[in-house]
Amino acid sequence: MRGRKPIIAIDGPVGAGKSTTARRVAEELCYLYVDTGAMYRAVTLDVLDHGIDPEDEIGVEDIVCSSKIELMIDDRGQRTFLNGKDVSERIRDRDVTKAVSSVSAMKAVRDRMTELQRELGFKGGIVMEGRDIGTVVFPDAEFKIYLDASPEIRAQRRYEELSAKGATITYNKLLDEIKERDRLNTMREIAPLRKAEDAITVDTTNLTLEEQVREILLIVKGENEAGKK
Ligand code: C5P
Repeated sequence: MRGRKPIIAIDGPVGAGKSTTARRVAEELCYLYVDTGAMYRAVTLDVLDHGIDPEDEIGVEDIVCSSKIELMIDDRGQRTFLNGKDVSERIRDRDVTKAVSSVSAMKAVRDRMTELQRELGFKGGIVMEGRDIGTVVFPDAEFKIYLDASPEIRAQRRYEELSAKGATITYNKLLDEIKERDRLNTMREIAPLRKAEDAITVDTTNLTLEEQVREILLIVKGENEAGKK
């Protein structure tokens, strides 16, 4: 382990259960938990707050150089701060969700976020979840998990989550959005979403949250013999 605690990289598409699972795994192991999607969302919010078009590469580059993004953990989980302000709820709004794929495809944004993520993880003892953690950010991570699930079940989970919060959006609209985000995230030129060759796939389509957490803990403790690579 090169004198430091392991790094657990969890990648996968939107709605596969990464955030909740990664947070629970980190709690069980007393590791730090980092949701990198929140970092991309925070930069995107900064872009929108400055009235910059999320497709304007030069404008976005200016913002990402000056954005101050900090992560803190409290009993609600990871809190995300942008330029000193807690934006943990605001970054989940639909305007940010719609713009984040475009902003996160830009090289300047990826370079900056990758640098910040490596700083956060260099001591190990961390569960980091995102799209390119096992492929780009920490290609030498001791454990690489690729969480996957069918688009339909991912849309269903998202639908239940949003409905519980009182949002009025249809399942079909969510399914379309999920498919579109999958397309953008897998087709982009830099750091596209893909499974690292040495990652273990955990398909969560028929798993409960408890089962997902247990499966990953078994992998980390070396007791997984499913050989699902
Ligand atoms: O995980 P979440 O859905 O909150 O991430 C928001 C967006 O940030 C993703 O759809 C993706 O475009 C981008 N992202 C990324 N690389 C990561 C994490 C997130 O490009 N490591």
